[in-house]
Amino acid sequence: MYDGSPHIKDIQPFGGLRGPIYNASLQTSKQRQNLKNFYVKVKLSVNDLKSENAIYQFAATAPGTYQVMDVGRFVRDFKALDAQGNALKTERLSTNQWKIHKVERAREISYDRIVDSPFLLGQLTRAEMDVKGSAVEIYVYSKSGRIKAEQVLASAKEVLLAAAAFTKALPVKCYTFLFHFEDGNKGALGAWEHSYSSLYTFNDAAFEQMLQQDIAGIMAHEFFHIVTPLNIHSEIIEQFNFDAKAGLARR
Ligand SMILES: [Zn+2]
Repeated sequence: MYDGSPHIKDIQPFGGLRGPIYNASLQTSKQRQNLKNFYVKVKLSVNDLKSENAIYQFAATAPGTYQVMDVGRFVRDFKALDAQGNALKTERLSTNQWKIHKVERAREISYDRIVDSPFLLGQLTRAEMDVKGSAVEIYVYSKSGRIKAEQVLASAKEVLLAAAAFTKALPVKCYTFLFHFEDGNKGALGAWEHSYSSLYTFNDAAFEQMLQQDIAGIMAHEFFHIVTPLNIHSEIIEQFNFDAKAGLARR
């Protein structure tokens, strides 16, 4: 289906072919996902492409982020193959755009994309809890060592159980909270949601002070992003113009 608007066909989060698409299927393989290599192979089987599909677009930004993301930065080894497995000529036009020459002949498009999985390194403490059949893990880095994962879990237990009661069960089988408590006001303070995890950066203050900042409330906020907007969202977000940075049309 094509509604005439310039949005990207939603084949794969963060990227897709421009223009109307009639025939495409997506496979992602996790075989290359390991600790040395955080890339996932994305493969699209395509058919009946037209010249207006020649541009493969990755998201420049996304709804709600209010920032430039340039997902194309995390892509490598972009390829398009014809029915015989011969590589078609591709050309990188910009950070987020690849052009496929003779796209009408394309039967497979593939690339490696870095996985949506933040990670935390350092001296960590860890706590775990079963929330109605889902494994919830908390990892904490605290510069001074005074904040421990057990404390964070203890403060969030009630809200996690309430979340599971509200949605009957948690919407994912496993979920990880990553905390980085840093000295003073160095770097950004805030939190960000991902598909199976969320990442938090705060001052490395006494834990009593963290409780005053409603740490459990912020965890619940990020956690519920699995439900919305990651899974349930308005069509306005679904058909967001991923090409434009801050609403400015490019190219
Ligand atoms: Zn939010």
